[in-house]
Amino acid sequence: MSDDTPGFSLDLSDDLREVRSWIHEFAETVIRPAAAEWDEREQTPWPIIEEASKIGLYSLDFYATQFFEPSGLGIPVAIEELFWGDAGIGLSIVGSTLAAVSVVANGTNEQIGEWCPQMFGEPGDVKLGAFCSSEPNAGSDVGSIKTRAVYDEAADEWVLNGTKTWATNGGIANVHVVVASVDPALGSRGQASFIVPPGAKGLSQGQKFRKHGIRASHTAEVILDDVRVPGRCLVGGKEKLDERLARVREGKSGGGQAAMKTFEASRPSVAAMAVGVGRAAVEYAAEYARTREQFGKPIGTNQGVAFQLADMQASVDAARLLTWRAAWMARNDKPFVNAEGSMSKLVAGEMAVRVTDQAIQILGGNGYTREYPVERWHRDAKIFTIFEGTSEIQRMIVGRAVTGLDVR
Ligand SMILES: Cc1cc2nc3c(=O)[nH]c(=O)nc-3n(C[C@H](O)[C@H](O)[C@H](O)COP(=O)(O)OP(=O)(O)OC[C@H]3O[C@@H](n4cnc5c(N)ncnc54)[C@H](O)[C@@H]3O)c2cc1C
Repeated sequence: MSDDTPGFSLDLSDDLREVRSWIHEFAETVIRPAAAEWDEREQTPWPIIEEASKIGLYSLDFYATQFFEPSGLGIPVAIEELFWGDAGIGLSIVGSTLAAVSVVANGTNEQIGEWCPQMFGEPGDVKLGAFCSSEPNAGSDVGSIKTRAVYDEAADEWVLNGTKTWATNGGIANVHVVVASVDPALGSRGQASFIVPPGAKGLSQGQKFRKHGIRASHTAEVILDDVRVPGRCLVGGKEKLDERLARVREGKSGGGQAAMKTFEASRPSVAAMAVGVGRAAVEYAAEYARTREQFGKPIGTNQGVAFQLADMQASVDAARLLTWRAAWMARNDKPFVNAEGSMSKLVAGEMAVRVTDQAIQILGGNGYTREYPVERWHRDAKIFTIFEGTSEIQRMIVGRAVTGLDVR
């Protein structure tokens, strides 16, 4: 970071401290007690989302306020608390924002105003949003997306065909945002995002996945079979798309790659999820180490245990610092010279897997059972090295930034 970077502070504003304790209370009293049940049920925890909606925590307004919080720390602070409560339920509560962010990042004001509120619904009638980029043969390699969008000029409609996979809230969302290829010859530069309105004909849910962790969060295939959406559903509008495609065809810079832009903006948020899970594991293991006695003394008095806890705490804090830095940089339009957003996600994701593993070790046999939460946290943590770009992809992005080479 250059020396003239003003304003980064670890002092949270009074407002943000209040928000943090308000969410913490919700996480402690509503999310935590329900976590084991929804993990076993492997279903979207609608009643909890409803509760969150009633208090204003599940709402576009809430996220918009945190998003525009001047320090940039509003979103990571909120997300860390939710995921400290539980990652599966946490993702059910924040999953819609991935779709909303993709519209906010690239859409027009009219599109944001029309569609984002419909991704959240309102108390008594909550709704979800889903962002559908990944496909069976296009995971890390976003450029090979096969879903096609063809413009029907006479009807001013786009026709979408393809199969999406791994979509959080896929098939049960009210609004889906789908990344599709408009010009396959241009790879990821020929892609655009489309809003699929509620009840669109031809969109259906395929397989729902039974997962290792974050089991309260719904993950499924989404099948698009001649789905027709109005012209106004092309995120950013046709004029902007045509201009961008023309630039790419002339060999000039192609501007934003729709999916990559969304992922880049959301990576510090995913890092914050991992920090929440890691922090939960350290707190739990430390308390256990204070009270569990073997050889006539608390196990935490053994350096072998205390040193592990020291490393765990240090790595949670280090991951949080990287996360806050990246979130602050994003909010203040600082260039990500060393891919600091990806860096935060890489370090926090790997930290959460390691720390939850150590927490199981400290709890011994108890840690390995479903009577204690640490085995669930360990299963949950693994997702942070996979979704929103695997750890290898983050290393590739950071590696490119650091070396200036075309690392593949
Ligand atoms: C629970 C869950 C929720 C998800 N939610 C969404 C969602 O809401 N929307 C959405 O669009 N997607 C979502 N995803 C998809 C997720 O982003 C992808 O799974 C992820 O990007 C990896 O793609 P893949 O699974 O196809 O793995 P692959 O790309 O096939 O990768 C397999 C392995 O190869 C490695 N690899 C691949 N290429 C390279 C390379 N160049 N160098 C080194 N190693 C490489 C990877 O790191 C990985 O270890 C979700 C996934 C899961 C599991």
